[in-house]
Amino acid sequence: MANEYDIVIVGGGLGGMTAAMYAARYGLKTGLIERMMGGAQIINIEKIENFPGFPHGISGAELGPAVQEQAMDAGAEFIMAKAAGVSRDGNHKVVATDAGQYRAKAVIVATGSRLRQLGIPGEEELYGRGVSHCATCDGPLYMGQVVGVVGGGDSAADEAMTLTQYADRVLLFHRRDRLQAQKVLQDRLHNYRKVEMVWNSTVEEVLGEGTGSGVRVRNVVTNLQNVVDLSGLFVYVGLEPNSELVRGLVKLDNAGHIPVNISMETSVPGLYAVGDIRQQSASQLVASAGDGATAAIAAYGYIRGKSW
Ligand code: NAP
Repeated sequence: MANEYDIVIVGGGLGGMTAAMYAARYGLKTGLIERMMGGAQIINIEKIENFPGFPHGISGAELGPAVQEQAMDAGAEFIMAKAAGVSRDGNHKVVATDAGQYRAKAVIVATGSRLRQLGIPGEEELYGRGVSHCATCDGPLYMGQVVGVVGGGDSAADEAMTLTQYADRVLLFHRRDRLQAQKVLQDRLHNYRKVEMVWNSTVEEVLGEGTGSGVRVRNVVTNLQNVVDLSGLFVYVGLEPNSELVRGLVKLDNAGHIPVNISMETSVPGLYAVGDIRQQSASQLVASAGDGATAAIAAYGYIRGKSW
């Protein structure tokens, strides 16, 4: 027997939790499915400086649980489970999880994105033993050592600065000759003497057995390769949507994002997608929160407009 709800939200990031808060405040029986803790990936962000209302910044570990508390106080039920898929059951939708099935009149998918891998030899084999996606979690392992960061966006810039708290040198490998990160981050990065830019360079292989001991780097202008000794490599080369859950149920674009209309509704009536997972997301926390509110309001109208 499935557990019955008015609305089920899958994913406890900022978008999902905001949707849960809005839905619960409308009086809908609201379930929020999340496999970790409220806030999901933002838990590891040391300082969020561009969320309105926090002029001095706020850590993800503070903001995540605070929004979760707000959603639960409004009446949303937090369900700790790993969602496996979403299917249709007449006009209802069913979310299958490792803790049973959850059936609802409307479902909001807010499963966000994961960090993209480089897909180079040694990366997967040495993941957790020299290769990492989390400067805040693994940075302390590299106290006084030399580490590398790959990427040129906001994440690479942010995380390179975080790593300077631990490492003696941080080499930032970027395949272009300038960063794409926000200007405010680029300007700040200049003041971090421990960060050294390695322009026009791609990391082609992670070397070592047991733990990473270096990387093979190629200069994309000269095509020359060299080996750089590193104790750890942190990869921040963009995001991939976690949309496997609805593959086959809704149309996805070529990158795996879910197309939605201005109400965040997908091609399936009563099924919504918010945050990083949707097509043309701004991939910003505040935008995900806005998506969550929009979807919850639309879902409320959808549920109330139907005769159930
Ligand atoms: P991103 O903006 O997509 O940037 C990815 C970077 O990785 C680009 O510089 C890209 O270079 C490079 N790259 C991609 N594939 C690569 C490969 N195979 N080898 C080498 N380099 C590669 O990703 P992100 O920095 O993770 O940011 C994702 C989103 O989160 C953005 O919307 C960002 O604004 C947001 N974010 C915001 C903050 C903040 O506000 N403080 C912090 C973190 C993230 P090319 O341009 O050459 O493709």
